[in-house]
Amino acid sequence: MNSGIERRAKPVPVGNKMLIHPSVCVWFRGILAAFVCGISVRVAAGEPLLERLRLSRTEEGQLVAFNRGNYQARELAKVLPLDLPWPVGAELAKAVVKFGVNRVVPPATQPMPSRILGDVFLVGQDRRSTNLTYMVDCGAEGVMLIDPSYDSEFERTVANVGKCGRKPGDIKWVINTHCHTDHSWADYKFSAAGAQIILHEADATAVERGTRVTAFERYELKEFPVSRVDRRLSDGEELRLGNKVFHVIHTPGHTPGSICLLLQVENKNVLFSGDTIFYDGMLGLQSLAYSDNDRYLKSVAKLEMFKLNAQPVRWDLLLPGHGVIVLDRAYLDVQKARERLEHDLMLGRELQVMPHSLPEYRRRMFGRPPTTPGE
Ligand SMILES: [Zn+2]
Repeated sequence: MNSGIERRAKPVPVGNKMLIHPSVCVWFRGILAAFVCGISVRVAAGEPLLERLRLSRTEEGQLVAFNRGNYQARELAKVLPLDLPWPVGAELAKAVVKFGVNRVVPPATQPMPSRILGDVFLVGQDRRSTNLTYMVDCGAEGVMLIDPSYDSEFERTVANVGKCGRKPGDIKWVINTHCHTDHSWADYKFSAAGAQIILHEADATAVERGTRVTAFERYELKEFPVSRVDRRLSDGEELRLGNKVFHVIHTPGHTPGSICLLLQVENKNVLFSGDTIFYDGMLGLQSLAYSDNDRYLKSVAKLEMFKLNAQPVRWDLLLPGHGVIVLDRAYLDVQKARERLEHDLMLGRELQVMPHSLPEYRRRMFGRPPTTPGE
């Protein structure tokens, strides 16, 4: 045990320029926030109304937007003695209190809508399964959404697009990173509102017909959501939407048609990773009948070695389908996923989604250098 367990990654406000709507109370809040946090504030008629992500600086120097559950599990892994078993269920909640990792916590969900970088925004977070929905402003032709989640989120997502300064009719494209209902259920609503629905060819039929693959988590349902699919993607495709170019990377394993997208923004490589890569070694759910662990490992290795125009890509931002958003050094998370997969598959161990209870994860937490306070 070393000093790495003694200091915690504290949620601190940093970073994004705050754009303030010209209503008096919000204006006052902006001035106050600028005073307290030293951030720049721009006030102009017609500006979008945006929130700021609540960010933390981790021991590895990554700037991340935690959700509360992930943050607390990670902090607990730092302070729970290695000879105690990892608590589950109600015991986990008790341990969080007992070991004091409930004192300084990030919000249960991130403020929305928030600008992540350039024309990339967070516009949706499902409460049930921490799904994340992103919007990319593609200029005069419209905006695209990635993974619009459940249909119950539709109105809120559209309202958040409005707060980003775009109209509902500007939503021209909806991409699913894969077919699962927690990512695609709202497709039919956006389709009815005039958006094109786009996903990989290997998952398209599941969305069109509403199969058990689509509804993986809701087997009790008699009917599954369906949507028309307007465009089928394949590996290596350059997807041009308005003024943006997305590079399509087929990453099967979690589902046959899972994809990741590369978007280059302000000289940074942004990885939209769906349920393929998550922060800090969390993995996609691989217990489904059609999950393919060998393909999953190959897909993650492909991301780690990914080249664009013969040049290696160093992943900067990780925008996953659930959980924690990473604003820099995302290549660390790709590497951790590959290492976990290789290790677990070599041992013949069943893949778990969350890494926190694993002995090697807990040992590594104890070995990490002390936390660097946020900026
Ligand atoms: Zn999924």
